[in-house]
Order: sequence, then C-alpha cells, then structure tokens
Amino acid sequence: MKPITELHHFTPQVQKLKPSATLRINEHSHALAQQGREIIRFGFGQSPFPVPESVVKALQEHAHEKAYLPVKGLPRLRQAFAKYIQRKTGLPAETEDMLIGPGSKELIFHLQMAHESVLLLPSPSWVSYEPQASLLSKPVHWIDTQAENHWRLQPEALEKACLQFPDTHKLLILNYPNNPSGTTYPPELLEALAEVARKYNLLILADEIYGDMHHDGQHQSIAHYYPEGTIISTGLSKWCGAGGWRLGAFYFPSRWRKLLDIMAIIASESFTSVSSPIQYAAATAFEGNEDIEEYLSASRKILKTAAQYVQRKLTEAGIPTAAPEGGFYLFPDFSSLRQGNEQPEYLRNSAAFCDYLLEKTGVALLPGSDFGRPPEELTARLSYVDFDGEQALEAARHLPVDETFLQKYCPKVCRGADLIVEFVKGA
Ligand code: PMP
Ligand code: GLU
Repeated sequence: MKPITELHHFTPQVQKLKPSATLRINEHSHALAQQGREIIRFGFGQSPFPVPESVVKALQEHAHEKAYLPVKGLPRLRQAFAKYIQRKTGLPAETEDMLIGPGSKELIFHLQMAHESVLLLPSPSWVSYEPQASLLSKPVHWIDTQAENHWRLQPEALEKACLQFPDTHKLLILNYPNNPSGTTYPPELLEALAEVARKYNLLILADEIYGDMHHDGQHQSIAHYYPEGTIISTGLSKWCGAGGWRLGAFYFPSRWRKLLDIMAIIASESFTSVSSPIQYAAATAFEGNEDIEEYLSASRKILKTAAQYVQRKLTEAGIPTAAPEGGFYLFPDFSSLRQGNEQPEYLRNSAAFCDYLLEKTGVALLPGSDFGRPPEELTARLSYVDFDGEQALEAARHLPVDETFLQKYCPKVCRGADLIVEFVKGA
C-alpha cells in the first residue's frame, strides 16, 4: 500500500514542523563520522562528563523499583529538590512547590500548554521554545538583544515588549547561563529585569538548567529579585551529565500552586510519572555530597578553560565572540568574512555558512537562525564539548587545567578551533 504523505492527513500545527535542530545536527554528525570523515561535533550540546559515581550507584541500587510513582514525583526527590533550591537560592522552597517531569523540555512544553499567554523570547534563545509554542498555536514575540550587550535582554526592551501586549498575560522565558550565547546576567541586571516583570505582572520561567555550570560557581537566580512570579526550571541533563536519563524539575512560587496542579493533571494524562529508578537516583543527586561538589568544581574548570581558549582563538582571528561565563556554548559572529560587494553563496545566510563550514572543514556548528536570529546575520552556536569528559575529569584531579591540559585531554576542541581559524584566514 502507498505510504500516507499528503499533508492534509496531519494537523496544521505539525505540517510545517522540522526535526529539532539540535537533535538533527547530532544525528547528521554521527552519520558523517560513520562514513569515515573526521567530524568535530560542535553542533550538539550534551554534557561530556559521566554521571557522578554516587548517582550511578543509587540508580543501580534502585533498578528493581517498578511501581508507578506519584504524578508530581517521588516525595523523597521533591523534598531533596526543595532543599537544593533552598541551598542555591535561599528561597523558602517546600516539597509541595516541586514538580518532576521526563526532562525539563517536556515540562516547558506543558507550561506553555497550561498558561494562556503570549510567549516573550529574547533573541537568541534555545531552539525548542518557539516550535513548542507553534505546536500549541501560542503567539510568540521575539525581543532583540545585541552582541555589545553580550546578548543579554535589556530592561528597556522588555518594557517595550510588555507595552505591546497590554491586555494579554505574558510568559517570559529567561535562560541563563545562556544557550546559545554562553553569557549570563549580573545581579544588577536581574534586579532591573525583575522590576519590569513586577510592573507588568509577568510570569517568568527561569531556565537555569546550566546554573551549576556557571564557570565560577557564581550562579544567581532572578527568583531572588522576583520570587512571586518566577518558576525555576532545571534537571539532571547538564550539571549531572545525565541528558539521556530524562529528568527535569520545576520549582513554583506558592502563588502559582494552581498552575503546578494543572500541569500535574496534564502529566497524569500524558507521561504519568518519570521512571522510578531514575527518580531515586535523582534524589541522591539533588541531596548532594562532597564527591558531587568536587565533580562540579572540576567540570567547571575544564569548561571554563576550553571556552576561553576557543573564544580567544576566534577573537584573534577577527571573529567577535562574547566572553563565556557558563554552560557549554559560544556564539561567534562571522560577518567579517563578508568583504566587498560580491558575496559567495555560502555567506548568504547562517544556515548556508554552517553547511559549507561542515563540508569544508568537518566542523559542525548550528546557525544563529535556529535560535531566532535574522537568517542573514552570520552568527552560529559553537558547543565546545567534543571531548572525553571521563578522562578529562580524572586528569583534572591531579593536573593543572590549562592550555597544555586542553591539548592533551580536549584535543578535538583545540583542533576544531584551529580548523575554523584556518578556514577564516583562507576565506
Ligand atoms: N533548556 C535549555 C536551555 C537546554 O539547552 C536544554 C537542552 N538540554 C533544555 C532546556 C532541555 O533539557 P532536558 O529536557 O534534558 O532537561
Ligand atoms: N539542549 C541540547 C542542545 O541545545 C540538546 C538537547 C535537546 O535539544 O533536547 O544542543
């Protein structure tokens, strides 16, 4: 029988869908590598580090747990997560304020489904927020940011956006340390944004999944300045190296308990509850211990050194790149390659540029247009985590983490930077 391909068989929301850019580049890079090409996988943002040993052990010890758990999450995990939020933010978080889901991505989707609002997104923003909104036919309003401001949302721009939607509820997703820019917000800016948020009664989703990956361990939440209207989103994917375990967690201010309850109903009609053994292991992760603290501090050192190395190389080659502060990413701007009046085809837009760079050098980046930037702007996201995190962590226990360390333990990161610089010089 003929396969069904005509679009009228599908809902209007899915007709224009494409696979998510991050997952597409991951699979494409693997496929090219399997054909025998040397590929530097700077396209996908997965933690290179192993899951901390105590957390793996907790998973092994609970492999026999087979019962469905409560929809909102295992009570011990919700309590451990509440204590984690108290420790990290000083907020009076309680077990009842917590919701557990199969990855923060799913929880963000359900939040967008539950909250009747226009979605305010700083540009650039992570690839999935906007497609989730369009799956739900939810209006999206992009707010521009500038490289000179380290791609940080400015209070004046936020206020201007709020004034455009005076009679509509507004949801702002603020992600920091940021994917894709690698920068974060200083406390004074968080405070100024919080003031605008309070004035216009915004609901903020603070996507702090890279909070523990602040390169100096200095992450601060906007919830500190706007506790009544901020939901904090995090999970195990980044700081705990467990993206494939699929565990995310939300903290709700008590004022928004009804929203938590509605999201739990959506969960009860969709994913039911997160895998039981994973939730037990996550409780150990959020409870924390000395090994986890050591693991975090070594991970941060390695990420910071790799980020600074690549940023320096690119900047020296005339490719401006905001100074990294946390997470796994850099967001260089290749516009200086456009010289004279006649442009080669590959400098037409960021997607053509990334395709060409991959073909010529084997370095995979994601175009700025996947993050909401104008297509003709030649920005791209570079994820400097193509290295063996297990070996690097082990070595970081007894070696200084410097450029010599990088050359030995993160050779593809150095090679990727060199290949881009060579390409830029030859262009
Ligand atoms: N937010 C940001 C900014 C991300 O980069 C990611 C990618 N992992 C997520 C949310 C979703 O993470 P997860 O679903 O693995 O918790
Ligand atoms: N967050 C990762 C990235 O931005 C990948 C995982 C995902 O998109 O779900 O590359």
